[in-house]
Amino acid sequence: MQQRGLSAYLAELIGTFLLVFFIVSVVVLFVATGNQAQFGSDFAVVGLGKIAGTYGLKEGDRVAVCPIQSCGACDSCRAGRPNFCANLSVLGVTTNGGFAELAKSKAAHAYKLPDTLSDEQGAFVEMLAAAVNAVRKAEVEPDDFAVVYGPGPVGLSMVQLLKNEGARVAIVGTGGYRLDVAKALGADFVFEAGDDLAARVQEANGGRLADRVIVATGSMAANQQALEISGPGSTVIFMGVTGPEDAVQVPMLTSLIQDKTIRFSLWYPFQWPRTIGILAHNELDTGPIITHSASLDGIGAAIERVVNREEGVLKTVIKP
Ligand SMILES: [Zn+2]
Repeated sequence: MQQRGLSAYLAELIGTFLLVFFIVSVVVLFVATGNQAQFGSDFAVVGLGKIAGTYGLKEGDRVAVCPIQSCGACDSCRAGRPNFCANLSVLGVTTNGGFAELAKSKAAHAYKLPDTLSDEQGAFVEMLAAAVNAVRKAEVEPDDFAVVYGPGPVGLSMVQLLKNEGARVAIVGTGGYRLDVAKALGADFVFEAGDDLAARVQEANGGRLADRVIVATGSMAANQQALEISGPGSTVIFMGVTGPEDAVQVPMLTSLIQDKTIRFSLWYPFQWPRTIGILAHNELDTGPIITHSASLDGIGAAIERVVNREEGVLKTVIKP
């Protein structure tokens, strides 16, 4: 019973996240705004406020705030599984996030930013941590042929993370500006989405199917196709948010013969220090991904640009 209750809770949270990201897909940079809305799960705080206790932080520090705030004390947290915390609060969903005038974070989920990181990069940490988590789960080996579905900010970050692991990287999307950016960020192959992708992967990979596939989109066509373009010994990671009734068909015998691994990547447990380190060591270029900034007055137009998928728009930072 408790397990079903937890699953339902998570499904509800994920649904709400989808709504937030659909509306915004915008990075929110700070809290002291005067805006009454409570959305905004990706945010950096410039000038931390009052801190209760000593946690290596002091008033005025710049921090990136992990919005998935586990309690640290329930059975799941004690077992090292904070994603399943029984007392989970999510900034921007269950409590105030970056759009609110004030938001409260547990000290354990506020990560001090190195001076070398810009405020924009601080606000990028949340999204990048999700990409880092998925790539770590893929357990990439050098020279693996890795395919990423979805050339959004997460997918474009993963292109760079996978290249850093020594993989050959292909990205799949619906063409245009985003695939051009992927190419500029190091993708070895850019593929327009289409039915013949398995053949194109084989052509690019010496006759073999993909070794690793990460699906950073809720498109069910992409999620299904990921199982078709992945070959012997492959790992497929699903991380896109889909509808509650959506399902893929797993070809059982083929997957057994291929000894295929299918995994999901939810959020970013324990990945924030690593993610901040990646940015601090210049291992990932955020420049081509953070394409716009806007003031609070311009937030409506900024959201419209993202929702309408305007050419040249990827990630927008809101600067109050
Ligand atoms: Zn907990």
